[in-house]
Amino acid sequence: MKKILAILIFLPFTGFSQILPLNPQPKKIADKFFPDFDVDINTPAFNSDNYKRGFTNYEEMMTFLYELEKSNKALMNVSFIGESQKEKKIPLVTINNSKINSNEKIKFWIQGGLHGDEPASTEGVLLIIQKLLTDSKYSKYINSFHFEIVPMANIDGYERNYRNVINGLDLNRDQTKMRIPETKYLKRAFTEFGAEIAIDFHEYRPIRRDFAKFSSFGIASAYDVLFHYSSNLNVPIENRLITKNLFVSNASKELRSFGLENREYMTTRKYKGDIHFRQGTTTAISSTSSFALTNCISTLVEIRGVGIKKTSFKRRVMSTFYVGMSFIKTAHENFAKVKSVVKNISNYNDDIIVKAKPKIKNMTIKAIDIAENKKIDLDIIMQDLHDLDVEITRKRPIGYLVPKNLVEVIERLDLLGVEMSEVENQREVLVEKYLVTDYFKVPVKYEGIYKQEILTELVREEISLSEDYLIVKLNQKNSNLAVEVLEPETVSSFVSFNVVNTELFQMLPYLRILEYK
Ligand SMILES: [Zn+2]
Repeated sequence: MKKILAILIFLPFTGFSQILPLNPQPKKIADKFFPDFDVDINTPAFNSDNYKRGFTNYEEMMTFLYELEKSNKALMNVSFIGESQKEKKIPLVTINNSKINSNEKIKFWIQGGLHGDEPASTEGVLLIIQKLLTDSKYSKYINSFHFEIVPMANIDGYERNYRNVINGLDLNRDQTKMRIPETKYLKRAFTEFGAEIAIDFHEYRPIRRDFAKFSSFGIASAYDVLFHYSSNLNVPIENRLITKNLFVSNASKELRSFGLENREYMTTRKYKGDIHFRQGTTTAISSTSSFALTNCISTLVEIRGVGIKKTSFKRRVMSTFYVGMSFIKTAHENFAKVKSVVKNISNYNDDIIVKAKPKIKNMTIKAIDIAENKKIDLDIIMQDLHDLDVEITRKRPIGYLVPKNLVEVIERLDLLGVEMSEVENQREVLVEKYLVTDYFKVPVKYEGIYKQEILTELVREEISLSEDYLIVKLNQKNSNLAVEVLEPETVSSFVSFNVVNTELFQMLPYLRILEYK
């Protein structure tokens, strides 16, 4: 009754289409298309006391991890990477057989719970940890890996079933501006580890506001799992191909064998009066491209689950688990191939792609028609970021010169694992400076800031190197991430996110090195 009253009260203000997100998972949809799995899962959210009450809380997770650690002392270790803003220590689980030589192992990073209202991510990661250590079907893989695992990245959000961290910012939009303490701890841990494969587990909302515009009474997503991997053209092609054609492809088949529908991740947005879908991602503000730009094989995994409480929760946790285990198995079976892709950063000499826009295509996806409660083929318009029209390319410099007084920039480059060196001898060098020729301050706040969008012209000059600069050389593992944050026109650059403030007709404070004289 309360719900009906709420709807009647809000109806005149919100318009009919806005009602849909109030109930993101009508029961008839769950019963017909997403019936829960009948399996035993022994992670904290499924033990009998907790099952009715809610999701795994921080204390339950820590007890669970310490018990596993106690019975697997030789393989597992729990440490902490830092504290949440509410002063809860953020655990990092290491699973590693130290008797095996490190170059015979792949460094595998797993994170979950970046968004506090996506519980199947944390629960699924706990299940992966448990099964790796206790089930011989999976523990046979351990010796091929050194795992570092953060099961609950956003503890304060998780405890409130709230997406963001406690200061209201989004951990997965913060990976170049780094204005959140938790981001810095996560980045530091990731960088020090030097991951070769990474998975970031999430859940997504089955009914988006824009979905109300389709069919007679709106649509719901038909997919259990969506894969989100980088289409950034500065990520070496070998990396993009192995991610899509081997890792995601194998996981997709594995999921289908359990009746779990999946495809590439999609979002929607309004575009000139239409609703456009969008797939692929190029921006380093979120984990999947940020990781890929360190030449790590990286995928973000979205399980159908936000806003539907415990509906189909075992199904969602098992989906998370199957994807994780499929990636582990694929890496184990393709050890040499993985090693060669992550070692071979083949695009040192390629031009940099600074700006590119997606091609717009007609596509057909599966969807659930809510009124009819049946699966339909839905014709949509897709902005495909896997098929980009390049707008700005730029010659790759030998490196960048960053003045030492740019402390915010230097701190962030360091957290991103970009190595910087001192100037050794004071010789002449041919550089390019960035002159700002177009400047736009976005009038709507995004993640707490008014972003800057600029265009620049490069101005050549010969200067004397001095010890006031640090050099960012581009023949290093994380060079593509350095390029992404320093070339000012990219969507995730330090200039875009005001780490470097500028104005029209100003020179940016850092330079590109073209040639040593
Ligand atoms: Zn998420």
